Amino acid sequence: MPDLKNDFDCAATMRTGRYWMPFTANRYVNAQGEARVLTAARGAYYTMGDGHKVFDSLSGLWCTPLGHGNPRIAQALYDQATSLDFAPSFQLANPGAVRLAERIANMAPAGLEHVFFANSGSEAVDTALKIAIGFHKLRDEGGRFRLIGRERGYHGVGLGGMSVGGIVPNRKMFATVMVPGVDHIRHPYDHARMAFSRGQPQCGAEMADDLERLVALHDASTIAAVIVEPVQGSTGVLVPPVGYLQRLREICTQYGILLIFDEVITGFGRMGENFAAQRFGVRPDMITFAKAITNGIVPMGGVIVTPEIYNTFMTGPESAIEFAHGYTYSGHPLAAAVAHVVLDIMEEDNLLSKVRALEPVLEEAIHSLRDLPHVHDLRNIGLTAAIELKPREGKPGARGLEVFERGVQHGLLLRVTGDTISFGPPFISTPEQLRDMGANLHRIIATVA
Ligand code: PMP
Repeated sequence: MPDLKNDFDCAATMRTGRYWMPFTANRYVNAQGEARVLTAARGAYYTMGDGHKVFDSLSGLWCTPLGHGNPRIAQALYDQATSLDFAPSFQLANPGAVRLAERIANMAPAGLEHVFFANSGSEAVDTALKIAIGFHKLRDEGGRFRLIGRERGYHGVGLGGMSVGGIVPNRKMFATVMVPGVDHIRHPYDHARMAFSRGQPQCGAEMADDLERLVALHDASTIAAVIVEPVQGSTGVLVPPVGYLQRLREICTQYGILLIFDEVITGFGRMGENFAAQRFGVRPDMITFAKAITNGIVPMGGVIVTPEIYNTFMTGPESAIEFAHGYTYSGHPLAAAVAHVVLDIMEEDNLLSKVRALEPVLEEAIHSLRDLPHVHDLRNIGLTAAIELKPREGKPGARGLEVFERGVQHGLLLRVTGDTISFGPPFISTPEQLRDMGANLHRIIATVA
């Protein structure tokens, strides 16, 4: 580990702003220097710039369910880098990627069988949206150009994903470059009826009927696809009401609209099943994935599609490239090698059942905060949860920031956006670690101003 004081003055360089951090209040964060630097990671803990350890309560950015520093993954990376380090992705395959596609198709809900690789969630989403447009065009339904997202949805930062996304601050600066023809259904969260739900809210399935409103407004013949996160992650774990996703599926089927589940966070185990689609018993037409597939170690993402979609492309005009889309690093051999070890470990260590066993522990840890005066809502499902704090009067986000800073002091790395704290602990967490986290949070939140 580099010695931040002697080898390199990290804090001083941060203050110059040389390093521009994504989705960050750089002017504020850069000034904090080493207090905002992670220097090492092992298991479920990160080491901060000053040497003290913090529990990784969001698995990196929802992406490291196996924890950090796994020697088997490191070995697989080394072995792959010294045998086939890169393979062109256009018109050439590599065995790791081919076998991984087969493996992912076998893990996916029945009827989702073909995999297109990308390198991030954003790329996976834009790929899925383009597949939807291409699919309809090839079926002589090119009039279906509209893409429907959802309020408070997060689908990455590509122009497509940003346009179908529904987080207002992410959209503000870019109004002029939104993909045309995008609309949004409302989000399925109603604090008055759903606050402090454990798992899925029992009411609210009818909120899916908002899609009927857009069908009536735009006409179904103009709508290509609807994209939703089965559980809205980045906006603070908004859990779908019982029956809601089923209803969305029914409406999409009725009107020939493709349903895309963005499972960048929920895919590969976080809901206690391979995919949230399986947990909720709803089969979309496409699933996007990223993050956990490689335990966050090498970037990888992708889209899983139905044979109907795949075959539509394969039976199109014969001489053409069927889908004029792809990335230099699609199916990267290093990412595929890591993904295989990640999936091996998930199977061997029975991590899906571990997640199912940890779910009630996390639920208790989070809902034990209910008596605290600053708590506005608590939500959880699978190995995800969120705490929504009441904003301090006139200063939204100030209380959240204070909780973040105290968390670091008390050995807890928290993902705070505004006044919402999101949790997605590693699957390798112990019940004690989750209970300690709950107790720690109780102390921290009880004492913030
Ligand atoms: N979709 C969803 C549901 C996500 O949660 C995220 C990232 N948090 C993305 C897409 C974008 O992924 P990436 O940051 O890898 O581009």
